[in-house]
Amino acid sequence: MNRIDPPPPQHKRLARPALATPDARTERLFPGIPVSAGVGIGPVFGTTEPEAVITRQKIQASDIGAEGARLEAAIVQSRKQLAKLRARLAVLPEESQSEIAPLIDAYIRMLGPSRLVRGVRQRIEETLLSAETAVLTEAEAIADAIMAQAEPSLSAEDLAGLRRRADEIGEIARRLVRNLTRSPFRSFAELPVGSILVAEALRPADAALLDPSRLAGVVTEEGGADGHTAVMLRALGVPAVLGAAGLAHAMKPGDIAVVDGLAGTVTLNPAPLTLMAARRAVTGFARERQRYARLRRLPAVTSDGEPVELQANLELPIELPLIVQSGAVGIGLLRTEFLFMNRETVPDEATQTESYRTIVEAMHGDSVTIRVLDWGGEKEIEALTLAGIVPEIADTNPALGLRGIRLLLRRPELLETQFAAILRASMAGTVRVLLPMVTNVGEVRAAREIYERVARRLRRRGERIPEKLPPLGIMIETPGAALSADALALEADFFSIGTNDLTAYTLAVDRAETDVAELYDPMHPAVLRLVQFATEAALRMRMPVSICGELAAAPKLTPLLLGLGVRSLSMNASAVPKVKQMIRSVEIDSCVRFARRVMEQGDPERIRTMVGGFGRADG
Ligand code: PEP
Ligand code: MG
Repeated sequence: MNRIDPPPPQHKRLARPALATPDARTERLFPGIPVSAGVGIGPVFGTTEPEAVITRQKIQASDIGAEGARLEAAIVQSRKQLAKLRARLAVLPEESQSEIAPLIDAYIRMLGPSRLVRGVRQRIEETLLSAETAVLTEAEAIADAIMAQAEPSLSAEDLAGLRRRADEIGEIARRLVRNLTRSPFRSFAELPVGSILVAEALRPADAALLDPSRLAGVVTEEGGADGHTAVMLRALGVPAVLGAAGLAHAMKPGDIAVVDGLAGTVTLNPAPLTLMAARRAVTGFARERQRYARLRRLPAVTSDGEPVELQANLELPIELPLIVQSGAVGIGLLRTEFLFMNRETVPDEATQTESYRTIVEAMHGDSVTIRVLDWGGEKEIEALTLAGIVPEIADTNPALGLRGIRLLLRRPELLETQFAAILRASMAGTVRVLLPMVTNVGEVRAAREIYERVARRLRRRGERIPEKLPPLGIMIETPGAALSADALALEADFFSIGTNDLTAYTLAVDRAETDVAELYDPMHPAVLRLVQFATEAALRMRMPVSICGELAAAPKLTPLLLGLGVRSLSMNASAVPKVKQMIRSVEIDSCVRFARRVMEQGDPERIRTMVGGFGRADG
């Protein structure tokens, strides 16, 4: 594997062009989307993209067409990302917009019929270079040509202008190469302890590499509140704001920022009064955490004695201690994507078995629901691309493509390995197995056949697995699954309602899309009706049903969910105490009355008001 060096250091040094700010250290507020509650104060730390690992420099003449198509796809993707960023600038104060917008426009122009793009195409066609090699070589040549104009007679200002143009070329080349190689590898090893990580965008695989104990907060310019990155940041318990447009381009080394993950704001270079208020908020959050810690040993029962199962979702093994401390009884959703991320090969059966076993053992007999791989949508996994299991260039609409169970049934060897590992690990405790993105009964039947075949094979091999196989359940996270819940209930052993995707697919809103973030509304009556329909189908069959989407983590929604008949909730560990406190304060009868009234409503705003006011009229 050849590693192509990124553009020369003198260009890299100015990767983020110096922008003319009238007063460099005045307080500036950047509004964004609140993603993970808490307040963090610290020096900003901008992450740089990793070196591109390029596997192929030369191509055959017969590959010219395909290579050209890869380049076009990367250009389209890069333009889309920049257009998104450009649209987000509208929320900034005019002064900031006028600084950043021209820069982004320049990037977008360079992706049009520019010298860069023409030169890259030519290098692919005439020199038979791979697209990424052609991009880097052409960008270097242009940057060198620009810097060749730097004569000693030039003024400092003109020289800076040349450097800026060279840097812009380097920046756009890096974006293209990043999209061509789809490399999620990014190192946070140099992150100073206590700093605020600022990135243009953070993929779920990047978030998986973060160590929460080293971070005061995380901010990105792109991304919505319910994407997988947001879920991971919440799981890590780091104050986080996504979609704070303009920050990465406006900040300078040495700047201090305050991240308010509840309000969804970032304040750059806070004035003394702002800083004082932020410090008070940090103390307030710490006190609240202590108060919730006392709830840990108390049972999750309503005030009239109805027990509720309260479990945690696990994204990353690093969360295990948090889960144990939270007072959750078991893991209601173990997302296994982490095992496949940030590596070049698909993990084998032994590696997976070890990983699941460690988690199951840590739960000391409390149930662990392990969901098989949910690749697709925004959950990119490099190892699957490198192994040729999934295409290098995503479909135009990956969320509606080969996601979750669809991919696993298409590539059953993935599912077989995972089932085998889960079955072996299930000897260490209580396990359930969960299938993602199911839309029809055929998928459940096909998966169960594989499950039973794997169990027979393991027994023949002499492996110890439970006599009675762990229950095999399904996610209800598409409107199709919710509306055929009665039929699916005949095939599945339990339901886990994933309100994150259910909301996205019902309302046709991308979970991670900043531009439509305000349309993403789990309190929309359509979503609630699907939750109700699926819950009732399960209850009629006396089949276990739980909610594991982010909806379960909102204490103000707990009375409504209990009123709909839900008695099992799984959520990020940090939400467990708040939800438990709510459960302990309500009576089932009043929840049922309340849910009946809410479900008569058609306006999400009205529902929001009612939910916020629970207890005043119904309690
Ligand atoms: C969901 O869609 O609600 C869910 C829990 O799954 P994920 O967030 O992992 O897609
Ligand atoms: Mg989902």
